[in-house]
Amino acid sequence: MSDKKLRIIPLGGLGEVGKNMMAYEYGENILIVDTGLMFPENDMLGIDYIIPDFHYLDDKASWVRGVVITHGHEDHTGAIYHLLEKINAPVYATRLTRGLVELKLSRGGLLDKIKLHTVQAGEMANIGPFQVEFFHVCHSIPDGVGLGITTPAGLVIHSGDYKFDHTPVDGWPTDYAKLAELAKRGVLALLADSTNADRPGWTPSERVIDPAFDEVFRSAKGRIIIASFASLISRMQQVGNVAARYNRKMAFVGTSMQDNAKMARKLGYLDLPDDLVIPVEQALNLKDREVVLMSTGTQGEPTSIMGRLSTGTNRQFDIAQGDTVVLSSHPIPGNEESVYRTINRLFRRGASVIYENIAPVHVSGHASQEEMKLLLHLVRPKYFIPIHGELRHLKQHANIARQVGILDENIAVIENGQVVEFKDGEMSLGERLPGGYIFVDGAGVGDVGPTVMREREALARDGFVLVNLTIDSKTKRLREDPEIITRGFTYTGNGDDLMDATRKMVKDVIKRGDVDLEADLEPTIKSFLYNKTRRRPMIFVTTSLH
Ligand SMILES: [Zn+2]
Ligand SMILES: [Zn+2]
Repeated sequence: MSDKKLRIIPLGGLGEVGKNMMAYEYGENILIVDTGLMFPENDMLGIDYIIPDFHYLDDKASWVRGVVITHGHEDHTGAIYHLLEKINAPVYATRLTRGLVELKLSRGGLLDKIKLHTVQAGEMANIGPFQVEFFHVCHSIPDGVGLGITTPAGLVIHSGDYKFDHTPVDGWPTDYAKLAELAKRGVLALLADSTNADRPGWTPSERVIDPAFDEVFRSAKGRIIIASFASLISRMQQVGNVAARYNRKMAFVGTSMQDNAKMARKLGYLDLPDDLVIPVEQALNLKDREVVLMSTGTQGEPTSIMGRLSTGTNRQFDIAQGDTVVLSSHPIPGNEESVYRTINRLFRRGASVIYENIAPVHVSGHASQEEMKLLLHLVRPKYFIPIHGELRHLKQHANIARQVGILDENIAVIENGQVVEFKDGEMSLGERLPGGYIFVDGAGVGDVGPTVMREREALARDGFVLVNLTIDSKTKRLREDPEIITRGFTYTGNGDDLMDATRKMVKDVIKRGDVDLEADLEPTIKSFLYNKTRRRPMIFVTTSLH
């Protein structure tokens, strides 16, 4: 037997929900599966998105034989431009996934430089020493695949995002037969989606949404606005179907949603009659009861369309009395608070808001516990590694695997950066790579360090205090009382008293003459204010000499 090992290197999506990325390494060959992004939590202000830390690949660019993308959701495709900018490797994806990836690459001007291969469920591709078989899985976007990866060290199954939906919107269920066939060959390891590991039972079929949407359309008197993710193609189809039944025209709001819908229609994955879909401008001129608008912004992000509608700052149109807003989504962990805040604001503006808790207008695209057990039974792997999820999801998925008879020592619950190795059919833990978040802020990648994040957090939480000193250039003494300006800095108690006290403190410190004005005054003022108010605004000290 070869002394080479199969190394599985989780670069993202293990220990968190989002930015999924896995590297399979054998000798000097690497296969990458998915290159996702993660949307920032609410306290990461000004950050557009977060991508996996793939510095591990820096000196191994020539080892990368290919990148396989399992499906077109952002948490699997969103970092592809950033990876391919550094590493030129061929990409393998099904038709719809490829179309959505092409949109991302063309925006970055990379489309001509990268070799793209279209694959189909049921096909196989040889990528270096990896023989990758693609099998169809149901999810909330069409054309999703899981992977059977035959490596010299054994057969590994990578589930991708999946559910076992017997009545999917596109009529194409998960390929149980292929899973059983792979199992017959003997599966060394299964890596499977853990997103819903804490949900008992089965995830309902996508179809359960249809009656809920029907009810919304039947009772709505005015405009209907449906918010979802830009890559939730199945949901677009469902909205289109019901819109056609109730004689409403449909318009997509926002570039990402428009681009994705256009691509999915062009490729035949979104079947909407031409006279159904109209531009937003046109829709806004129709009678309210003749329109349904579909937009992004389900996570309460203040700069998203829904966020702006809720605060009355949207450019193109506003929420009006009589509008029905449907949030067809589930808050990503950590976003609950801002989602509910947005819902409250939309109500305040006169909309009637329908969301998951009051009607089944959303259903998960991920397997629940019983489906996870079924997958484990179908595949019967020797080793099991839960992927896609926070640690609590991974742990719970491991419990489920134990329940169906996987040996405890054959389960590896690992987080990003923890390498797992397979040699001679045995699993062991490898090294732990350093890792973290790479923030993408506008066009810049990675230039927003933790310091900038902390500053933004401080600004958002406690505002700032600016102290301007006018210094006599000869005597180096204060010529006037320090001028203090605050923005967003609130505290209980009398503000004038506090500012007077601050001014006096600053004067005393300067009079003692033992400070380097700008460098030392900032921390002094910071601790002074913190002691008085328990708040930590950003402090700026400026001096002008006269
Ligand atoms: Zn997905
Ligand atoms: Zn996903």
